[in-house]
Amino acid sequence: MSYDSDRLPTADCQLPKEAMSPAYDPANIFAKILKGELPSHKLYEDDETFAFMDIMPRGDGHCLVIPKQAARNILDVEPASLAAVMATTQKLARAVMKAFSADGVTVQQFNEQAGGQVVFHLHVHVIPRFEGVSLKPHTGTMEDQAVLAANAEKIRAALG
Ligand code: 5GP
Repeated sequence: MSYDSDRLPTADCQLPKEAMSPAYDPANIFAKILKGELPSHKLYEDDETFAFMDIMPRGDGHCLVIPKQAARNILDVEPASLAAVMATTQKLARAVMKAFSADGVTVQQFNEQAGGQVVFHLHVHVIPRFEGVSLKPHTGTMEDQAVLAANAEKIRAALG
């Protein structure tokens, strides 16, 4: 996996005031996934973005899209990196619709603790939806790895 550590700010990096956001923490879980220090069910990768399965899905096929460039959330991300994330999000949204014969797709993105963010590396949730089926609550329970692997395979196949 190509991961440009030169583009990651160090822990003492100060964000511009206008970002209104604390400094990026390069030790966050998703930075470790990008660096290959933690495993993930990879779905897609290009120069700017990476997509993988959410380990505690709120619905079958719940996946995440992240920038390779270090960004805490939408407040500090560079616009070009955000645009790349959204282009990949559209790819994944179309793929999960096809992979699960879904009726719709929910795209979510949270910023700072008060905004519902838990992992502080920008990410977009892509969740296939089905008529009459609610999202599962955040239980903190990890999905079975075999289920994640099977769903990842379906999405990769749909991506073509
Ligand atoms: P948010 O920060 O937007 O609230 O959500 C963070 C998401 O990351 C959650 O949906 C959670 O299930 C997911 N998550 C947390 N830790 C890991 C991990 O180690 N691996 C993966 N693949 N997903 C994770």
